[in-house]
Amino acid sequence: MQSDVRPDADAAVALVRQWLSQTEGVRPDPSAARLAGLLQDERGLDFAIGFVDRVARPDDLGVAARNLEQLAQSIPRFLPWPLRALIAIGGPLARLLPWPIVPIARRVLRGMVGHLVIDATPSRLGRTLEHLRADGDRLNLNLLGEAVLGDAEADRRLTGITELVKRPDVDYVSVKVSAIASQLSMWAFDEAVDRVVDRLVPLYETAALGVTPTFLNLDMEEFRDLDLTIEVFQRLLDRPSLRQYEAGIVLQAYLPEALPALDRLTDWAQARRAAGGAGIKVRVVKGANLAMERVDAALHGWPVAVLPSKQASDANYKRVLDAALRPDRVDAVRIGVAGHNLFDIAWAWQLAEARGVASSVEVEMLLGMAPDQAAAVRRTVGHLLLYTPVVHPRDFDSAISYLIRRLEENASTDNFLSGVFELTASPEIFAREEQRFRAALADLGIAGGASDHLGTLIPVAGEAEAAAVLARLVGAGVAIVDFGPAVGDLEHTFLDLARGAADPAAAPAPSATERGER
Ligand SMILES: Cc1cc2nc3c(=O)[nH]c(=O)nc-3n(C[C@H](O)[C@H](O)[C@H](O)COP(=O)(O)OP(=O)(O)OC[C@H]3O[C@@H](n4cnc5c(N)ncnc54)[C@H](O)[C@@H]3O)c2cc1C
Repeated sequence: MQSDVRPDADAAVALVRQWLSQTEGVRPDPSAARLAGLLQDERGLDFAIGFVDRVARPDDLGVAARNLEQLAQSIPRFLPWPLRALIAIGGPLARLLPWPIVPIARRVLRGMVGHLVIDATPSRLGRTLEHLRADGDRLNLNLLGEAVLGDAEADRRLTGITELVKRPDVDYVSVKVSAIASQLSMWAFDEAVDRVVDRLVPLYETAALGVTPTFLNLDMEEFRDLDLTIEVFQRLLDRPSLRQYEAGIVLQAYLPEALPALDRLTDWAQARRAAGGAGIKVRVVKGANLAMERVDAALHGWPVAVLPSKQASDANYKRVLDAALRPDRVDAVRIGVAGHNLFDIAWAWQLAEARGVASSVEVEMLLGMAPDQAAAVRRTVGHLLLYTPVVHPRDFDSAISYLIRRLEENASTDNFLSGVFELTASPEIFAREEQRFRAALADLGIAGGASDHLGTLIPVAGEAEAAAVLARLVGAGVAIVDFGPAVGDLEHTFLDLARGAADPAAAPAPSATERGER
């Protein structure tokens, strides 16, 4: 078994075709059909986002009623007729009778997204979990909510997560640093780490030492939280009480820092294993915070933290998996391959099998997204780990940002999910996604790729050196298609080179002045 063997693109494309053929003729899941209808209807997305944001979110029933009345003036056709009729009748009356019309509209919405977000009411949760596990999947529960603004909200969220962890029928829970501690400032990094660790120790000890241990995963959100989350994760698992506890963390491949972060975590996890401790798990995702990273960069006048294109993120995702899925690494670091892009999942699974590490890999998908395709993947990989958002009905507005993110992800034609319902019927959509997949593989120099670009990460010591490397390569006539700027004390910069260009590694080392040394 060679640790650098890689399947070529054709094998992965064939596996995707096999998965899609298994979904042919299957009666589409009704909620998936509704989502497909929403995406195909030109007014679908605006209506759905308007409904979720402007009718479900406002505290004031009068405001919600006015918004409902406006939305009712243009009802999209994707909705089933009874619902269209309800909105057509309820909309104009909403201003006169905000109660009960708005609560009824909200209840209908909750029912429509019940396959994406489940009810956390303790008496109902057990039955739902049992039902969702019927196909043999594992469930990773995530108590929904956005970044907390105050201590009371942070305490409430931490209590809610602890209650989930204590349930005997829950064995996997996701936590976000920004959900359990408020007002974290990166200017006081050490203080922030101490504060988050202090808050999380009781939760981790409950999860590790309880009668039925629960796996905890630290999810990743904004780029600004990356170093903090890694530091907190390591500090927690270095505690003597948690040395035998396996826990997880997420890395976002749309960040150029993903690979260096994986290497850092792997070195640390291997030392922990060698000292008799448990391993860890890393969930590899592309990253869901693109819009916010762009807004944050624009507001502050900073370079955008994420890689410069979808193709660069796709290539980096595979680059990170290629580095991670090796027999000498998975003993210390198991891998979660998370995403809905069937080409990437197929390639990652074949890579893991070719290297004999498939038993250390778990394929992770979002509850309710393209369930027919998920079922086909499950048949190949054994079981799925389903990301399962839960929310109390009284906190339903916490689900709104999650739902909007999913809607946007489904709507952007850059994204695989936008064509997910047409992959089988439309050769154009299949070809578009296949070409994107091959282009990203070609960036890594993997057989079957089809791009004339070559993506590469170049080690640099900060912004000044990155600029100097770039200037030197341009001066030497290297065709640079795209590049990801280095920020602050970043250790790598990303360059997308025209294939056949001079090897950047062979370019002369930067001088002391170029490196910013004075
Ligand atoms: C089980 C599960 C758990 C997840 N957990 C997390 C988490 O903890 N944190 C998190 O951030 N995300 C998380 N995600 C979401 C994930 O990061 C992706 O947003 C989502 O899976 C879509 O990626 P894809 O590979 O499925 O689809 P694809 O369509 O192949 O990829 C879409 C992704 O490409 C990237 N992209 C798109 N356009 C551009 C562009 N112009 N420039 C640069 N990059 C671009 C973005 O990351 C976008 O989400 C999770 C997803 C799953 C399935």
